[in-house]
Amino acid sequence: MVKIAVDLLRQGVIDEKTALQRIEPNKLDELLHPVFDKAALKKANVLVKGLPASPGAATGQIVFFADDAAAWYKGGKKVVLVRIETSPEDLAGMAAAEGILTARGGMTSHAAVVARGMGKCCVSGAGALIIDYKKKTVEVDGKILKEGDFISINGTTGQVFEGQIPTQDPELTGDFNELMKLADKYTKMSVRTNADTPKDAQQARTFGAVGIGLCRTEHMFFEGEKIKAMREMILAENTETRKLALSKLLPFQQADFEGIFRAMAGYPVTVRLLDPPLHEFVPHDSKGQQELADAMGVDVHVVVQRVEALHESNPMLGHRGCRLGNTYPEITEMQTRAILGAALKLKEEGVVTYPEIMVPLTGILYEFSEQEKIIRSTAAQLFAETGNSIEYKVGTMIEIPRAALTANRIASVAEFFSFGTNDLTQMTFGYSRDDIASFLPIYLEKKILKFDPFQVLDQNGVGQLVRMATERGRTVRPDLKCGICGEHGGEPSSVKFCHRVGLNYVSCSPYRVPIARVAAAQAAIEE
Ligand code: PEP
Ligand code: MG
Repeated sequence: MVKIAVDLLRQGVIDEKTALQRIEPNKLDELLHPVFDKAALKKANVLVKGLPASPGAATGQIVFFADDAAAWYKGGKKVVLVRIETSPEDLAGMAAAEGILTARGGMTSHAAVVARGMGKCCVSGAGALIIDYKKKTVEVDGKILKEGDFISINGTTGQVFEGQIPTQDPELTGDFNELMKLADKYTKMSVRTNADTPKDAQQARTFGAVGIGLCRTEHMFFEGEKIKAMREMILAENTETRKLALSKLLPFQQADFEGIFRAMAGYPVTVRLLDPPLHEFVPHDSKGQQELADAMGVDVHVVVQRVEALHESNPMLGHRGCRLGNTYPEITEMQTRAILGAALKLKEEGVVTYPEIMVPLTGILYEFSEQEKIIRSTAAQLFAETGNSIEYKVGTMIEIPRAALTANRIASVAEFFSFGTNDLTQMTFGYSRDDIASFLPIYLEKKILKFDPFQVLDQNGVGQLVRMATERGRTVRPDLKCGICGEHGGEPSSVKFCHRVGLNYVSCSPYRVPIARVAAAQAAIEE
C-alpha cells in the first residue's frame, strides 16, 4: 500500500494529497510490528478469540506470573504472560514477555494500555479462558494447557493459537519515511505520544512524535527501592511520616523525569500527577504483607488493617486522581518538585524543556484550583531556593462528564485541557473499563453497539462532550490548548473527529504515532 502510493506519486500519476488518501492508516500497524509467517499460520489451530488489544504477533511459552516471565526471559526463553488480568505490579514481567494474554479486561484495561505503550502484542478479555494460578494451567473448551506449553497470539485480530507459529520482524523502508514527511506537510494537528519511560519516549521520537501528551507517573513507583518508600508513604500514620517517605521518593522521581525530558528535549512534556488508587501499591498476599511489616518494623496486623482500609468496592470511582492530591497535598508537592527540579537541572545542562503539569480526574473547578495553588506555590519555593526558574504550564485532564459540562469554569484557571477519553467513555456510558469483556462481544454481535467505544470514539455521545468542553473552554481562554490522550488518540476515525472539533494535538502510544500522523493529515485534506 505504501509502496504503491509513493511509486505512483513519483511517477506523477497521482498528486500528494491523493497519495495520502490512498493510505489506510490502521494498516500501517503491520509495518511496525512482527507478523506471523503466512504459511505456518494457515496450519494453525485457533483456540479462542479475545479483544485485539495491542497489535502484532507473538509466540512463546506460557507463564502465569510476572516474576516467572522475567526469570524465564533472563534464562533465554520466550514467554507469553497469561493472566486473568494484569496490574501495575506486573510491569517488569510484561516487559519481558513476547506478548500478553488476559481473560478479563477491555481495550483500556491495564494490560491493553500498557502493552500498547510498550509496542507489545496483547490479546485481552478472552473470556473463555479458565485460568488456574495454583495449578498453573489454562483451560479452554475442555483443552488444558500448562505452564511451559507454547501458545501464539495475534494482537491485531485477537486470535489465540495453540503451539508455536514463527513470526517475521517488520522493516521500515524509505517509502514509509517519505509518506510520513508528506503527512506532516498537510496536517494541522500535531501528534504527541503517551510515554512513561525514556525508552518509549525515544521510540516515539523515531516515529515522529513531537512531545509527550501523557506521562503516567504511577509506574515510576514500582521498582525496588521506590515501591518500598511508596508503601511507607501509604502506610504512614501522620503527615510528618508521610512527608518523610515522600522525601525518599523525590530523588527517584526527579531522576525519572530527567530521563524523559532529555529524550524529549525541545518538545513539550505533559506529566500527569499520581492517578491510581493507593491499594494498587500495597501487597494483598500474606507473604508480601509480612515482608512489608518486617521491613517497616511494624506488626503485620498494622499492614493488614491498612490494606483492608484501602479496599474499595469500585476503585475506578474511588480515591484516585486529584482526590489523592487533594487529600494528601504532600504528594502533589513532591511531584511538582520532582518535575520542575528535573527541568531546572536540564536547564543547567543546556537542555530545553517545556514541562506541563497535569491534574487528573478533575470534576469540580475547586478540585483543580486547589491543586493548581499547591503546584504554583511549590514551584515558587523551589525557584526561590535554587535562584533559578523555568516556564511551565498547569492544566487538567477532562475525563469526568462534569468537567466537560463546566469546562468554561475550569478553563478560567487551567492553561490546557487533555481529554482522557478512556475515563470519559467509562463514565459517559457507565461501562466499567475493566469489565466490558462480558457483554461487549454480544453487544457488537447484536449490533447494539457498532464499535467498542473504548477503541473508537463515540462521536455522538462522548465526542459531543469533547466538542462542548473545547468550545466552552475557549470562550474564556481563546488560546486554550486542547488535546486528547485517551486510547482514541491513535485511532483514525477518532483522530479525524479531533481535527474537526479543533483540538491542537492528539497523543497516542508510540507505535500508533505514524497512524495518527497519516489520519491527521487526511482529516486536514478532507476538510
Ligand atoms: C484516560 O482516562 O483517557 C486516560 C488517558 O487516563 P488513564 O487511562 O490513565 O485513566
Ligand atoms: Mg483516566
